[in-house]
Amino acid sequence: MEPRISLSDYKTDVHNDWCPGCGDFGILNAIQMALVDMQIPRHKAAIFAGIGCSGKTPHFINTYGIHTLHGRVLPFALGAKLANPDLQIIAVGGDGDGLGIGAGHFVGSGRRNVDMAYIIFDNAVYGLTKGQASPTLKLGLKTKSLPNPNINQAVNPIALALVSGFTFIARGYSYDVKHLKDLIRKAVEHKGLAFVDVLQPCPTYNDIYTKEWFSGADNIDPETKKPMPRPYKLEESGYDPVVHTGDIDELNAKMSQVIARANEWGNRIPVGVFYQNEHVPTYEERISTKIEHYSKAPPAKQVIDKDGRPSANISKLLNELKVSSI
Ligand code: SF4
Repeated sequence: MEPRISLSDYKTDVHNDWCPGCGDFGILNAIQMALVDMQIPRHKAAIFAGIGCSGKTPHFINTYGIHTLHGRVLPFALGAKLANPDLQIIAVGGDGDGLGIGAGHFVGSGRRNVDMAYIIFDNAVYGLTKGQASPTLKLGLKTKSLPNPNINQAVNPIALALVSGFTFIARGYSYDVKHLKDLIRKAVEHKGLAFVDVLQPCPTYNDIYTKEWFSGADNIDPETKKPMPRPYKLEESGYDPVVHTGDIDELNAKMSQVIARANEWGNRIPVGVFYQNEHVPTYEERISTKIEHYSKAPPAKQVIDKDGRPSANISKLLNELKVSSI
C-alpha cells in the first residue's frame, strides 16, 4: 500500500517573497490541503500559473509546475490536460491576468469545458506592478495606489464565468482556508471546467478590501454591537447550485439565481458554490467522437520513436479534412 501523502509532501523550500499578510498564503495552503484531502500523487498533479504575484504559486507546490505567460495560463493548461487526461490540472492566476489580458481565453475556455480547475486570486489590483486598478475593482473606488478614482466598470467574474459556459462556479475567501479547501476539492472533482474566484486582501496596495473590511470591522450589528463579517455561505442560506435535470426551465432558473447572487456586494457577500452542471459534455468527450481511441491513446501515451517523432498515424484524420476543388 502506498504511504499516505501529507501536507509537507506538497511543500517546497523555495523562498516565498509574498508580502506579510497577503491573502495568497491562504489560497496556497488551501490548494495544498485539497491535494492532501484527495490524496493525488505528486506526479499526477500539475499547477499552471500566469503572471502576477499569484504566478509564483507553482514554485511553492511540490508537483509538476509551469509558470506560463501573462494572460495565457488557460491555453497552456488546457493543452496539457488534452495531451494527458490522467493529470489533475489546476490553473491559477490573478484577476488582472485572467480577466484583463486573459479575458478572451477565459471566455474561450468556458465554451470548451475541459475537465480541470481554474482559480483566480482576486484582490482587485495589479499587485506585482504596484497596485493599478484591475478588472474587478469597482467603479469609483480609489485605492491608495491610484491617483484618482477608478473610472472603469468592474467585471463580475461569477457572471462572466456563467455566460462563458463554465460548468462549476464558486467563490471563496482566502482567510477562510478550510472552506476554501472544500471548494477547491469540489472544483477539482467536478466533471468539466471549474472556476473558483477567491477574494483576497492585498495589504500592500488595496486599502479598501482589507482583512478588517471582510471581517466587518466597520459593519457593526446595532443590537449586539459586534462586527458582522461580510462573506456569508450560500450553502447555509438554503441555496441549491446543482442543475439536476438540465431541462431548459430548470437551467433558466438556476442561471437566474446565479446572476442575482453574483450581483450581491457590500455588507453581505456570498461565498460557496454558485453553479454546478454536469449535463454538459466535456471537451474530452467531444474529441472522442472525432478522434478514434483518443481516450485510450491521448498524445501523452503515444509512442515516440527514436528520432523524437510521434509514431501516431494521422493520415486518416488528414484525409477526412481534404478540401476538394469544385
Ligand atoms: Fe500579496 Fe499584494 Fe504583496 Fe502581491 S503586492 S504579494 S498581492 S500583498
